[in-house]
Amino acid sequence: MSILVLAEHHDGALAGATAHVVAAAQQIQKSSGGDIDVLVAGENVGAVADAAARLDGVSRVRVADHAVYAHQLAEPLSALLSELADDYTHLLAVASTTGKNVLPRVAALKDVSQLSEIIAVESADTFQRPIYAGNAIATVQSADPLKVITVRSTGFDACPDRGLEGGSAAIESVDTVVENRQSSFVKEELAQSDRPELGAARVVISGGRGMGSGDNFKLLDGIADKLGAAIGASRAAVDAGFVPNDMQVGQTGKIVAPELYIAVGISGAIQHLAGMKDSRVIAAINKDEEAPIFQVADYGLVADLFEALPEFESKL
Ligand code: FAD
Repeated sequence: MSILVLAEHHDGALAGATAHVVAAAQQIQKSSGGDIDVLVAGENVGAVADAAARLDGVSRVRVADHAVYAHQLAEPLSALLSELADDYTHLLAVASTTGKNVLPRVAALKDVSQLSEIIAVESADTFQRPIYAGNAIATVQSADPLKVITVRSTGFDACPDRGLEGGSAAIESVDTVVENRQSSFVKEELAQSDRPELGAARVVISGGRGMGSGDNFKLLDGIADKLGAAIGASRAAVDAGFVPNDMQVGQTGKIVAPELYIAVGISGAIQHLAGMKDSRVIAAINKDEEAPIFQVADYGLVADLFEALPEFESKL
């Protein structure tokens, strides 16, 4: 019984979400025993491997460092995982764009079912996952010999880093280099931002249709700067073209659970709540006192956002 966690990394750094997946792996380990390995696949990923080796509970980091794994293309990554899978009973990855791209392919290659977006571990074969946009929690049990699992990082507190002094796991290289004739990297366009990443930010301030235009989203900038917040949006704001779709929070956007979530001009449709209702503290600004967002908000301000936001910023 061993567990393999696929490390998520960007720009040569281990993504924080990986520590949440290792925490999920530790809970599986409590009931199944065995070791937790982390797979770091990419090109020039030495620093990522070092960071992964410091995560508490990790026994071994396996590093597949080769150009074919650069850019995290799903075809070679899934072929690699599928080859390594025979050593494991559980394969875990973050339920991120990459994890959701890679793991279903591994499940198909191994002819097992995938367990998607688990938020709790009951035992080595039984897990909880949200369904119906988070309105119900399903308990799912898998009889497959290999369990392929995406993990919703907001469901698990990050496992601690052992620090530079705390010792680290063994790092071993994986020689398997799979061929990739199915896909090739063309280009990547990344939104440039000095702000924290939406999924990892401690504070998120999101605007909805009530913002009225993309230009008005600038009203959130100063507040976000002062709070060190990421900026999100409702789908209505994205669909109206106010902001790009990588800012969307909700059922079909990003799932966030920051310490503070501020919803501005957002009505609080269940599909939006599905992406943010696990936030520790929720504050809402809306001019309609009947808006459903106030049912989940810890703090609500019934006000016109065009008056409230400048005042809020000036008081911070
Ligand atoms: P609205 O519902 O139009 O609300 C705007 C709010 O702004 C209102 O409450 C209004 O009172 C307030 N307002 C207006 N002017 C002001 C002002 N001057 N000052 C203060 N308040 C003001 N939505 C998501 O957000 N994320 C998703 O991932 C998502 N996925 C979906 C998936 C499916 C399958 C479906 C069917 C829908 C999905 N939706 C999603 C859409 C969702 O149902 C709602 O339509 C959407 O969340 C509404 O966005 P909104 O709150 O910004 O807009």
